[in-house]
Amino acid sequence: MEHYDAVVIGAGFAGFYALHPLRNGMGLNVLVVDAEPSVGGTWYRNRYPGARRDVESTYFSYSFDGQLQQDWTWPHRYAYQQEVREYLNHVADRFDLRRSIALNTICDGATWDAASSRSTVTLGERTASTRFFITATGGTGDPNIPDLPGLDRFRGTVAHTLTWPENLDLAGKKVAVLGTGSSGIQVVVAAAEVAEEVTVLQRTASWVVPAWNHMMAPEQTAQIKADYADLRAVARTTTGGATVADPAGSGHELSVVERREVLDDRWAQGGFHFLFPFLESPTDPVVNRFSANYIAGKIRETVEDPATAELLVPGEDDPPVGARRLCIDTDWYETFNRDNVHLVDLNEQPLHDVSDLDADVLVHATGVTGGLGALGRLDIVGRDGQPLQAAWSPRPKPDLGMPVPGLPNLFVLSGPGSPASLVCAPPCAEMQVDWVAGLIGHVMQQYAAVVEPTEESTEIWGNMIRSLAESSLYSKEERYHASEDAGSEFMPFATGLADYRRICEDIADAGYRGFTVECP
Ligand code: NAP
Repeated sequence: MEHYDAVVIGAGFAGFYALHPLRNGMGLNVLVVDAEPSVGGTWYRNRYPGARRDVESTYFSYSFDGQLQQDWTWPHRYAYQQEVREYLNHVADRFDLRRSIALNTICDGATWDAASSRSTVTLGERTASTRFFITATGGTGDPNIPDLPGLDRFRGTVAHTLTWPENLDLAGKKVAVLGTGSSGIQVVVAAAEVAEEVTVLQRTASWVVPAWNHMMAPEQTAQIKADYADLRAVARTTTGGATVADPAGSGHELSVVERREVLDDRWAQGGFHFLFPFLESPTDPVVNRFSANYIAGKIRETVEDPATAELLVPGEDDPPVGARRLCIDTDWYETFNRDNVHLVDLNEQPLHDVSDLDADVLVHATGVTGGLGALGRLDIVGRDGQPLQAAWSPRPKPDLGMPVPGLPNLFVLSGPGSPASLVCAPPCAEMQVDWVAGLIGHVMQQYAAVVEPTEESTEIWGNMIRSLAESSLYSKEERYHASEDAGSEFMPFATGLADYRRICEDIADAGYRGFTVECP
């Protein structure tokens, strides 16, 4: 049996970073395991053509080491998947993380033993005993492969964007893409450049705004590096963990001309700068509609075929702008002016038999299932033999989106109840890991062995999440945001990273109010 102070499952942005404070900072004996043959997590698996960040590289990176920020140069304003992978490999080497990472290692689960105040973790053939067990398995859900009629008889290649095969090349092929969310719009634009033909199978049109992605000029990079400390300080105060233009004022109070100027400006800045141009954009459907009408106008200006343009404009009953994560891309609407790209409205032409599709490759850009994904497959057993699934029935309820009552010394990173799925991943990962490291330090300072949240504190957190969500447009998109184990309940923390950080820090400052720390 191997012995550790902490075992972390997942070597993506969060799990990977955990080694830095816990091992390098606190001197703990830590093991990170990942089922894949490489570090990177989502950024290793999501290698579909066109895969790219939707947050600017300046912010979509670690902030914990000033010299790392100065030494690393991002080639593009929005990093491509390969660039993110190169960055994470650089971090692994630079901070000597690899010696504590077991790749190609599948964790089956962990069982709490009250007598020793430790968990026994099964890692295939290996077994490890650990004081603290941390899951960093990324966003919830597994690749969603809809049960399409005739799929088993489709003679071409079937791929999913989230598990893209290493050697699948779309050049010269006839490609059908199902789904027009963030992944779909990226893979369609990239495929159109090389494929013979691309058929886009759309059920719901998305709101898409331009990234205006470009190579970073040396003087731009130099300016960012000179300002980095200040940029990070401001980003810490933002909802998304990355600085975007503030709302320009009340959408009701600005004149039509002023509103147009604001929207023109936000469109020119691109990306999430367009997300909430007015104070009421996230809450008031009338004000949200100003942005929607503006994007609709851009679609009609850009797409030459009027019928195609109309299909690409989300309908009145579709999600408002920002209720789902805004899609950020380059050339999405322009792509439909190419002769080799065709749009099919599945509402008019449902897929009766996929085996009839004239395609060599069928790409599922269909996102994830609503479940807990890799986290749900871990057989985690807590106090009195209680499985995590039972503790989370009828819904997941980690306190602060991290620790779970009844499962001592367990921490869930990027899980339900945290803002992780709504915000920029690296600052959220750093914040959660640092908070967990602080709590572990607190337990150790007290020569204690066991920490867990109270039921009461967890209930308060759950109620707060629900009331915050109800006051935002996110609640109109419960199915998109909530995990299926959560029923129809909205699960992320809706008001973003700065609020979340403040609450977590307040709780830490109050001596970890709402937690029991025991020496059994
Ligand atoms: P997604 O946003 O959930 O979109 C899935 C798409 O597939 C939707 O258009 C959906 O249509 C469609 N779909 C699902 N089942 C279908 C079915 N049975 N028939 C027809 N269409 C179906 O998934 P995603 O694009 O993979 O994105 C997942 C998450 O990752 C999002 O939070 C996204 O923001 C994030 N992401 C970010 C980036 C980036 O950083 N740039 C890139 C990729 C993904 P309906 O709307 O009708 O259900």
